[in-house]
Amino acid sequence: MRIVPTMAAMQKLARRWKRAGVKIGFVPTMGYLHAGHASLVRAARRRVGKTGVVVVSIYVNPTQFAPTEDLSNYPRDLKRDLKTCRAEGVDAVFTPGDAEMYPGRAEGKFSTYVVEEKLSQTMEGAARPTHFRGVTTVVAKLFNLVLPDVSVFGQKDFQQAAIIKRMVADLNFPVQIIVAPTLREADGLAMSSRNKYLDAEHRAQAVILFHALQAAKQAVAKKAVPAARLKKELAEFITAAPLTRLDYVEFFDPETLQPVAQVKRGAHMALAVYFGKTRLIDNGQL
Ligand code: AMP
Repeated sequence: MRIVPTMAAMQKLARRWKRAGVKIGFVPTMGYLHAGHASLVRAARRRVGKTGVVVVSIYVNPTQFAPTEDLSNYPRDLKRDLKTCRAEGVDAVFTPGDAEMYPGRAEGKFSTYVVEEKLSQTMEGAARPTHFRGVTTVVAKLFNLVLPDVSVFGQKDFQQAAIIKRMVADLNFPVQIIVAPTLREADGLAMSSRNKYLDAEHRAQAVILFHALQAAKQAVAKKAVPAARLKKELAEFITAAPLTRLDYVEFFDPETLQPVAQVKRGAHMALAVYFGKTRLIDNGQL
């Protein structure tokens, strides 16, 4: 497994693969890898086959964090991540640094961003106004460096995946986007690097996100329910767990991401809940 620490080395390697007709599968991550990330690596491998290569990037992208968010505390363990990648048969791990990715950003010299203007307005985009601009910008940069034929994203970040698909279509990136299912802990909590922040009490209550999704699924199984009513019921359900603070719960059309007034079977639900300072998200089809 190659460890590629610079942009120049990554692009050179990717170009060489391209010239040799080697298919490149790519999984962008912020590291602190868990089984969910590993499942994306396997999905990438399935797409490129034995003759292709799988690249994982590990980069905690500063532009997708607001100044008040957890950039400096975000969990990091490169040694363990490299072990995970090796065990998953990853061909190359790309680990660029901030100085190279965003030269002169502190002095205001970095000034070109990729902005999706529609799908990024609701839910995570409304709660975190500069988040998706950072995501689309870094993913566009990574695509230009890794030159993937196929790139795998998690349904865990449903809105992110939808925005990346939109960006790829709108800006003609020659890459196929695959969205892979959310991996969960035994009790249903979606795996996330941020679960590390949870103490035992918060961890016990964190399963409420999954339970809320299940409760909503049940509520709409036989008949449509007004979104406002279901939101109110779920808000009560979630805040009955004493350590929670609901950020939002939303029902939306999975194509347009626009909110729906009536929640029917097949609609999509997303929610964000705070446990102390830790903010967790989840989503699923009802
Ligand atoms: P992150 O390192 O959190 O930026 O995530 C990197 C990629 O892994 C993104 O495409 C996420 O959607 C995906 N991912 C995160 N958690 C999970 C999970 N529990 N199951 C599947 N994919 C995930």
